[in-house]
Amino acid sequence: MSDSFLNKRTALVTGGTSGIGLAIASALGAAGARVAINGLGTPEQIDTAISKINKSGAAEARYYDADLRDAIAIEAMLQEVNAWSPVDVLVNCAGVQHTAPIAEMPVERWDALIAINLSAAFHTLRLSLPGMAERGFGRVINIASVHGLVASINKSPYVASKFGLIGLSKVAALEYASAGSRASGGITVNCVCPGWVETPLIEPQIAAKTNDLSIDRDAGIRELLREKQPSGRMSLPEEIAELVVWLCRPAAHNLTGTAIPVDGGWTTQ
Ligand code: NAD
Repeated sequence: MSDSFLNKRTALVTGGTSGIGLAIASALGAAGARVAINGLGTPEQIDTAISKINKSGAAEARYYDADLRDAIAIEAMLQEVNAWSPVDVLVNCAGVQHTAPIAEMPVERWDALIAINLSAAFHTLRLSLPGMAERGFGRVINIASVHGLVASINKSPYVASKFGLIGLSKVAALEYASAGSRASGGITVNCVCPGWVETPLIEPQIAAKTNDLSIDRDAGIRELLREKQPSGRMSLPEEIAELVVWLCRPAAHNLTGTAIPVDGGWTTQ
């Protein structure tokens, strides 16, 4: 996947400062794109992310600091990115987790989680799709989760946000299905639905297992996987990124409105 088929294209990756988003931003850079990332992080983390994307071969890499809980900040970010270079590839990857039973879920956590995991994608979509349609090319990849396809206890806002993200993506896919042509590339909107992926997001859940069962980290990971993911293997962020890059290819022009599980068989059961 080292050809530069995204040369002269621009990608915006939310959640691009860490984990899966950083791997996606680097892989899009390796395919030749200009890459804009958004996300939280210390200045050192952001510098490290930008230099990783540049080293991957990106035409250019820039950081945008919008807090995705704030619709006005998202609008300002999209204006700035589009003024730099119109967005051809939009990856909504930012996401947060909070686990608690419904009756104990803090209301402010619910609101923040829905804002970051779902409403932010609505805003980036509504602000990007019309431009993509005018240019006849666009790729939107929303990083949902197996929790957009099946539920688990104690994850009410996360599961609600990811089911919502898949629904939102299907509507967008239909509304833009006829835009562009095979020659221009068309507009596609898809979700990728990972099971367990080795990133900072799942560390609290690993820690909870190791504490509850008084076991070490590796045993905690095995325990998490045993419950749900039949392959017994976590995915790596770079593996999710390869799929995202493939979805950007010209050959994927008719693959739209899907929710693709990468879950070691979790949702097959
Ligand atoms: P991560 O914690 O490494 O990255 C999350 C990203 O979201 C970070 O860049 C963070 O700065 C950003 N973010 C959080 N709050 C923000 C805010 N208010 N404004 C702007 N940015 C904000 O996690 P990850 O595992 O790489 O998760 C990326 C996506 O993948 C998420 O949507 C997550 O739900 C999804 N996912 C992860 C897994 C997994 O096992 N790790 C599984 C399925 C789905």
